[in-house]
Amino acid sequence: LVSCEDAHARSSDEGTSVIEVDSIGIKVNALLARMTLEEKIGQMNQYNGFWDVTGPAPSEGDAANKYEHLKKGMVGSMLNVRGVKEVREVQKIAVEETRLGIPLIIGFDVIHGYKTISPIPLAEAASWDLEAIKLSAQVAAEEAAASGINWTFAPMVDISRDARWGRVMEGAGEDPYLASLIAVARVQGFQGDDLSLANTIAACAKHFVGYGFPVAGKDYNTVDVGTSTLYNVLLPPFKAAEEAGVRTFMNAFNELNGIPATGSAFLQRDILKGEWDFDGFMVTDWGSINEMIAHRYAKNRRQAAEFAINAGADMDMESYAYVNELVSLVQEGRVDESLIDDAVKRILRVKYELGLFDDPYKYLDETVEKEVIGSQRIMDAALDMAIKSIVLLKNENNLLPLKKNGQKIALIGALANDKTSPLGSWRIAADDETAVTVLEGMQAYKGNTLTYEKGADVVTGETLFPKELTLNVSDKSGFSSAVTAAKNADVVVMVLGEHGLNSGEGRSRSEIGLTGVQQELLETVYKANKNIVLVLNNGRPLTIEWADEHIPAIVEGWHLGTQSGHAIAQVLYGDYNPSGKLPMTFPKNVGQVPIYYNHKSTGRPLDPGQGEVFWSHYTDVSNAPLYPFGYGLSYTTFGYSDLKVDVVSNDKVTVSVKLTNTGDVKGKEVAQLYLRDEFASVTRPVRELKGFELVELNPKESKIIEFTLTHAELGFYDNNGKYIVEPGTFSVFVGGSSDATLTSKFDLK
Ligand code: BGC
Repeated sequence: LVSCEDAHARSSDEGTSVIEVDSIGIKVNALLARMTLEEKIGQMNQYNGFWDVTGPAPSEGDAANKYEHLKKGMVGSMLNVRGVKEVREVQKIAVEETRLGIPLIIGFDVIHGYKTISPIPLAEAASWDLEAIKLSAQVAAEEAAASGINWTFAPMVDISRDARWGRVMEGAGEDPYLASLIAVARVQGFQGDDLSLANTIAACAKHFVGYGFPVAGKDYNTVDVGTSTLYNVLLPPFKAAEEAGVRTFMNAFNELNGIPATGSAFLQRDILKGEWDFDGFMVTDWGSINEMIAHRYAKNRRQAAEFAINAGADMDMESYAYVNELVSLVQEGRVDESLIDDAVKRILRVKYELGLFDDPYKYLDETVEKEVIGSQRIMDAALDMAIKSIVLLKNENNLLPLKKNGQKIALIGALANDKTSPLGSWRIAADDETAVTVLEGMQAYKGNTLTYEKGADVVTGETLFPKELTLNVSDKSGFSSAVTAAKNADVVVMVLGEHGLNSGEGRSRSEIGLTGVQQELLETVYKANKNIVLVLNNGRPLTIEWADEHIPAIVEGWHLGTQSGHAIAQVLYGDYNPSGKLPMTFPKNVGQVPIYYNHKSTGRPLDPGQGEVFWSHYTDVSNAPLYPFGYGLSYTTFGYSDLKVDVVSNDKVTVSVKLTNTGDVKGKEVAQLYLRDEFASVTRPVRELKGFELVELNPKESKIIEFTLTHAELGFYDNNGKYIVEPGTFSVFVGGSSDATLTSKFDLK
């Protein structure tokens, strides 16, 4: 019998990738040779910010211990320390007071902006604009770097198909192809071309892996996925980030198929550091080494530390496990010191690449801090990203764009006048109440008369836990003034949805409609005036079937960050023609979840030629979503024609299509190409996104768009994780959403 402990033992040569002997490698080896075991383990220890630098150094408790550790070189990284003054304080101790003076690497969750907040990542993904997304990450990196930060815990590249999961706001949606390209754009944006510059920061692909697939959408819950989904859906964005040179990875809280990700050698050593040859480092998620005890996988912290290092986790975020347990684990022979060396080399390498050894204070310049943070250039980028993230979901009778003059407009909804909610979740460095509201954005257009009524409150971020969810959200006392305002208006704009703090970590929901009494408010106002433009503010797809049936115009306005109100007003007034497309399917009701466009053909289709006629169905709702992946309208219309497919070789198929702006105004369209492998040795999805192009066209203008399908697009991973392209028939579909109907077939020999 192999004991549980032995099953985790690891020898040094498995899944510890060989780091090339380049100039950094030589420096790293020389430094490593001078380090004691304690100092090495210190590099693998990351602490949360621990004392108020404006006060005296702590003399007792946890903070004092951490402070002592810092002075002894037992800390390699800190997170949540920010601002030049504060970072300098801790960096100075590391550099000037410890024996070897190794600089700290300062990490922070720069998720969608730092102080200036850009749209939540899910919203940015709706732009399908890779250049804009890259720029957004780049300015976020600049702002964070100006505040002394070297490393962001982003991008989150977890795929999710479950809108109940609160963290869908932090990812790029449900599709591995789109999410992979976005992962690359974000990594390139954060890291730039030269990591040693003082305005670039190291990125982190997280959470490796499966975190976005918790059972029932409950954050941190069990994850159980088959190999086909793991290889074809969950891993690709991580692989893309790795290939783009992301310098760090973060493992995950969740277990995957029975093994906590933090203790999984299969994921961290075999796949990431083995097969993919990743030479950066793996940080754990917050306290995730200790969480292996809660998983009932490790018996205690000591065993958890042993499992984590053996499995390939290089840096311990806030479990206090490595710093307390690893020395004796090595001394007792339970952990091979070569694994410690490998981890430390990786961490030191990234510190060298960041230039921290050349000048540990290079990120610490008060003048730059003052100039860069909140600068006009960064505000402009946040606005640009915000307008590009908006998706027009419905627009009957051309209710939008709004006329600029002579209109009486009633603006209704608490979210229309909330300066915090648009900042969304994950904006730790931003000040509350700093977002431009829709009310403010619309006030900038002076030709109309604007009346504002709150109508009803929304559940706020403070009311996260079940017992507090009843807080004052049933108050309908504002309804009657809202109805009066609506009666007196030509057009009603209602801003409804969920508060910015209702999505994010630990914020899963079992119902995903408008929170509180907002649905009732909407229906009540509708009785008074049917000319409603509904602007959604939300961090996840919402179930808004009633609104889709009744309300003539619906705009998806997400949580768009600091410039939110200006962006929404510009779209409402037609100064920007919306071009976003949904990166995640909108369900009709929560019972349809998980619902996603790239599902399999299984489920006993009655007629395989008509993919929608399934035995597998509900008796009370159709199989169709409310809005499919890739969907989004414009103030103009687009037509697709002349689809041509040319099989150049088994590795190259070109597809061309003519796209025409058939409407009256200039607009942008995301032309999308989907592929279906008709028959394969592992069942394949009904269709998968394999190409897209964002094109701007004048009225009546046409353009021929060309897509090239290569080895990378034509194949899939088999159940052993091997990528293969199989001969046979394929179908292509081209159009403006995943429902695209223009189709053709080709064969690969
Ligand atoms: C989250 C990570 C985050 C870390 C540090 C954790 O709770 O899951 O995504 O980077 O905290 O703030």
